[in-house]
Amino acid sequence: MTLFHTLGFPRVGQQRELKWALESFWAGNSTQQELLDVAHTQRLANWQRQLQAGADFITAGDFALYDHVLNTSYLFGHLPERARHGDDALNQLFLAARGRTPCGCTSHASEMTKWFDTNYHYLVPECRAEDEFRLQPELLLEEIRAARAVYPKVKAVVLGPLSYLYLGKSLDNSNRLNLLPKLLPLYSELFALLKAEGIDWLQLDEPILALDLPSDWAQAFEPAYHTLRNNGLNLLLTTYFNGLEDNLSLALNLPVQGVHLDLVSAPEQLTPALDRIGPYKVLSLGVIDGRNIWRSDLNAIRESLLEARQQLGERLWLGTSCSLLHVPYDAAGEHQLPDGVGQWLAFAQQKLEEGVLLRNALNNSDVLSSAAWQAQADAIQARRTSTAVHKAAVKQRAADAAAFDWQRDLPFNERAALQQELLQLPLFPTTTIGSFPQTSGIRQLRRRFKQGELTLAEYEDGLKAEIVHAIRVQEQIGLDVLVHGEAERNDMVEYFGEQLEGIAVSANGWVQSYGSRCVKPPIIYGDIERPQPMTVRWSEFAQSQTDKRMKGMLTGPVTILKWAFVRDDQPWSATAYQLAAVLRDEVQDLERAGIRIIQVDEPALREGLPLRKAAHKQYLQWAVNSFRFSVTGVAAATQIHTHMCYADFDDILPAIQGMDADVITLETARSASKLLATLKSSPYNNGIGPGVYDIHSPNIPATDAMLTILRDSLDVVAAKNLWVNPDCGLKTRRWEEVIPALEAMVAVARTLRLEV
Ligand code: GLN
Ligand code: ZN
Repeated sequence: MTLFHTLGFPRVGQQRELKWALESFWAGNSTQQELLDVAHTQRLANWQRQLQAGADFITAGDFALYDHVLNTSYLFGHLPERARHGDDALNQLFLAARGRTPCGCTSHASEMTKWFDTNYHYLVPECRAEDEFRLQPELLLEEIRAARAVYPKVKAVVLGPLSYLYLGKSLDNSNRLNLLPKLLPLYSELFALLKAEGIDWLQLDEPILALDLPSDWAQAFEPAYHTLRNNGLNLLLTTYFNGLEDNLSLALNLPVQGVHLDLVSAPEQLTPALDRIGPYKVLSLGVIDGRNIWRSDLNAIRESLLEARQQLGERLWLGTSCSLLHVPYDAAGEHQLPDGVGQWLAFAQQKLEEGVLLRNALNNSDVLSSAAWQAQADAIQARRTSTAVHKAAVKQRAADAAAFDWQRDLPFNERAALQQELLQLPLFPTTTIGSFPQTSGIRQLRRRFKQGELTLAEYEDGLKAEIVHAIRVQEQIGLDVLVHGEAERNDMVEYFGEQLEGIAVSANGWVQSYGSRCVKPPIIYGDIERPQPMTVRWSEFAQSQTDKRMKGMLTGPVTILKWAFVRDDQPWSATAYQLAAVLRDEVQDLERAGIRIIQVDEPALREGLPLRKAAHKQYLQWAVNSFRFSVTGVAAATQIHTHMCYADFDDILPAIQGMDADVITLETARSASKLLATLKSSPYNNGIGPGVYDIHSPNIPATDAMLTILRDSLDVVAAKNLWVNPDCGLKTRRWEEVIPALEAMVAVARTLRLEV
């Protein structure tokens, strides 16, 4: 019989119970025991779901109060030294993650970074050559015991030793691989403990096998796994997010009892895997998409598996492509979505049901005539043929756009002269990135409007008052290019998702981003249209309140795409060009309304890079060209800005230059020297504003530090191209922090003007 299992389950709770419990605990409003009780209830609920759906294992060890990589650091006694304070596990975890605990200890928070190409962030393990490890299995073992009390067939999950070290960072430039011999014996020790707890199968995640691995890392797998074998525990080596490509044979030949492959992201690896898998190994095939929210086409998947079923028999397992951490809990409550979209969705709960149904259909062909199977096929058919999804004219416009190399009419230098004539800006113009503090006043306004306590007119008057306030503050500070402050936006992607046809916003589709922070990605389900302008009246209103230039503010096509759940029935590039088309219309409408500086943010362009280098070129081609499609419909004198977060641009600088924005503002305050070094070796020729201070800190930035960044910038950027701005939006800050910081920044620009 074929088995079905999930690689992991969401943790925050269907109503984000864990989020509220964590935040209450951190604020000192509840006890540790109350937090642990909520965590335990959530885990039980997850296991009950798996059990009731009919999964063959329940999965344990996938839970984390903050992050599973952080848990791995704890498991092996490898939290940063500064967090090993006292002997309370939770205190240590939160001290490492957040830099503070409810009991008042502080240190600095660990670095967070994106988990592969997802929007989940993990806490980066810190490594030094002299590090020692120590097994601390109690938290994991407790979780496993609790799971086994629900159902004895528990599959445990642990992050594998090579991925753990690879995902870390070296603090002393030593090779993290050198730590492997110290770490491996602890894995063996852990395996023995798991075996003693009654565990038969351990899922050992080695997702780095899906990356372009340096050869020393690839070569380390084979000897490492040899030292781990023969412990009586069955190991399922799991990979996800991409095909294994050059690492496929390596993975299949390791001395483990099973290997899991992600067939959603790389279906083409099935055939070579069937050719190369040994005669005793389990092949677990990830066929239910763990990254997206669409119901699966079970008929098509079943057919694609028949050969594997024939060849492998009992040794074929079915699974989710990756952990379900990246999808929301349950689509059953999503009644209010347009166009019947609710029927097409599968969140974690539905994915369990799909996996079990598919397994049953492979084990017993009678299932193919069941009502459940038919309902699934009907939903797929409805989505495929829906007129809300398919709009010929929209598809045609995007296809035409994709076939064209979009460029502004004039080269940058000629545009810049015309823009200067129109805008009359001083040297080193000062501006901000778009958002101003989302105060409790604004949040309250939104909440009261949603709850029906305020009329639309009252709500909008409230927003207008906020905008006017932001404008007066900016005028007083003396900024050159103003923004309206984005008070009307809950989120820079959802705001556009709510206004575009073809995009739905779920009621409760929350996904963990890091710790207690969750995001609710909009769902792009159909061909995209803009029924009416989205931002124009706000920008127009703001401009009417000031004589200074107002900057229009949009979110770019790649960022909307990357921070949404996307269609799986057409390439990403097709959806990007559709988004670019509606943004192009919006940009032109803004220009017509007299807004002559327009910023199209693309903070996600960098993080959208595919995991494998070989795929970068194609991605950057459509990502950059779709951006240009969105901004090239305006006059040469209209100034296009863009903004990107993260400072590691060395590898994509030519692509950024290719975007040909008139001005780019960058998040650099934490590593300006790195950006400047990059610009030294490959100069950037358009306008650029390296962020002069870090908006993540509440402190007022030091004048000297800002001046240094700007003076150093003048070595690599022409004076006429240099802008002065903070390094990201200010919505998470308070006015009391923002005002003195911007005053200091404007003073610095004035000082610099006197120097040249
Ligand atoms: N314009 C956005 C803001 O200021 C940009 C946010 C971002 O870079 N993520 O909030
Ligand atoms: Zn930013």
